Amino acid sequence: MPTHVIHARSPRGDDRAAHRDIDRSPDSIVRVVADAAHFPGGRADGVARPGSEADVAHLIQVATHVLPIGAQSSVTGGATPAGGLVLSTGRLLSFQEAGREHVRAGAGITIDALQELLTPGGRWYAPFPTFTGATVGGIVATNAAGAATFKYGTTRDWVDALTVVLACGCVLDLERGQVRAAPDTGFELRCTHGDRRFRPGTYAMPAVPKCSAGYFAAPDMDLIDLFVGAEGTLGIVVDATLRVLATRPAVAFVLVPMRSEAAALALVGDLRNRARETWASQDPQGIDIAAVEHMDRRCLELLREDGTDRRLGMTLPDGTALALLIQLELTQATSERDAFDEIAAAGEGRAPATRLGRFCERLRQHGAFADAEIALPGHRARAAQMLAFREAAPLAVNQRVGEARRQIDPRIDKTAADMIVPFDRLGEMLAIYRDGYARRGLDYAIWGHFSDGNVHPNVIPRTYEDVVAGRELILEFGREATRLGGCPLAEHGVGRSSLKQQLLRELYGAAGIEQMRAVKRVLDPAWKLAPGVLFEREAG
Ligand SMILES: Cc1cc2nc3c(=O)[nH]c(=O)nc-3n(C[C@H](O)[C@H](O)[C@H](O)COP(=O)(O)OP(=O)(O)OC[C@H]3O[C@@H](n4cnc5c(N)ncnc54)[C@H](O)[C@@H]3O)c2cc1C
Repeated sequence: MPTHVIHARSPRGDDRAAHRDIDRSPDSIVRVVADAAHFPGGRADGVARPGSEADVAHLIQVATHVLPIGAQSSVTGGATPAGGLVLSTGRLLSFQEAGREHVRAGAGITIDALQELLTPGGRWYAPFPTFTGATVGGIVATNAAGAATFKYGTTRDWVDALTVVLACGCVLDLERGQVRAAPDTGFELRCTHGDRRFRPGTYAMPAVPKCSAGYFAAPDMDLIDLFVGAEGTLGIVVDATLRVLATRPAVAFVLVPMRSEAAALALVGDLRNRARETWASQDPQGIDIAAVEHMDRRCLELLREDGTDRRLGMTLPDGTALALLIQLELTQATSERDAFDEIAAAGEGRAPATRLGRFCERLRQHGAFADAEIALPGHRARAAQMLAFREAAPLAVNQRVGEARRQIDPRIDKTAADMIVPFDRLGEMLAIYRDGYARRGLDYAIWGHFSDGNVHPNVIPRTYEDVVAGRELILEFGREATRLGGCPLAEHGVGRSSLKQQLLRELYGAAGIEQMRAVKRVLDPAWKLAPGVLFEREAG
């Protein structure tokens, strides 16, 4: 029976003093003052690498401000310190089995390491973000989501328990289903530092599959959900119990050049519907799609300019408007020979018998079969090339942004959005991105997680004025995404980015932000943890 009351306990762990040291050497500090966002002005007084929850609790108590960091792959400045202590989770590497479908993993374990630990048992952590060097603590703190959200949801859906050290140094053992908000009073926290009450916000969160936009809120919410996506501002995650797949899916990657965006939307809409039917009916031969990624025409031009298409053997037909990369899940029993038979049958228009055949048949119906290329589950090298092709799009844009910064104006920066709309509004949203950029005369490229309606429009700046115009457009796009029932902050979080913090304010209004501040004030009255992340202490 759930309760709204939670008791925090004293921290456990060994007392090895070495793991409580604060390293204040400039060499060590310089290594942690920037994250992947290259957010300016990072500074820190010291770095610590605790080895247990007791070390974490001790360090929180001796420091004025603490920023937890994992792999610092944040693209929002959330892992950029603004003074105080940087607490790296690199030594929190515990790993315990918790049955076949759960593991308890230390906050510092990377997704790559987690998948390796799961490999001998044939298991798999499904909702991983594209950057697999990210840590368990980082993905929980940002509610990270990857390409396969369509099938597997976000990190939140896979977190069943968390150990969290609070700003007061006490520890919460949170288990999903145990502590839920009471209708009138919200939550009650009891610890040696006094009893405290706090309520979830009353703002309505967008009903989309991905949302990394401040504190989760719902009337009878589970307390664990408050800490998922809180970006380190409410407590430090020491370990997480994650649900894992008992069997790693057999995935085929299919690169599909499309002649028009409308055709791509129609194909992906059809595949989404059929996959949902398969999940509902459990038809072993039904079409099963985990993800569809995309790159627009400009991305493909950049890859041609860079020679990436030739290097990876991915020259697409003339007239390709957009490329899709589909993750098709097959049954383990699909042999290569059967697969080729099915592909050939689809090409000849014969009735399909298997999952793969039915998929090929859909491609044929949408006029996309002839140009498609498939990498079957065993074809790892080709699948890796396809994934590298898709990943080359952000790299190509980042490289051009860096060059423009060096050669034209040091103020030039990456100007990108991370927004989601319901899939049936994606066509409208893509038109809004295009029209906005055309109105401002900007060069741009768009790629992303097409099957979720979550894409990343990026400016390719030629001047600093392009960056300014691009930032203004992001605010415009955010309003449009919200109007279409989406979320302007889909998977990367908010961090210290002033633009993303403004998107958050516009999404929930000043009252919503004030409700988040009220939760923070109760759990972290001295504003010790990750100050400046999500919102400032006082209203601006
Ligand atoms: C090339 C690239 C691709 C990416 N692709 C995706 C993607 O597909 N999907 C996606 O969601 N994101 C993506 N990201 C963003 C980033 O990888 C994720 O946000 C990731 O979850 C961050 O993990 P991290 O370990 O690097 O955390 P960090 O960047 O170190 O920290 C991120 C935030 O989490 C907090 N934090 C870290 N550890 C803890 C902890 N133990 N307890 C409490 N708070 C903590 C930090 O304070 C910070 O606010 C991408 C980034 C890059 C560079």
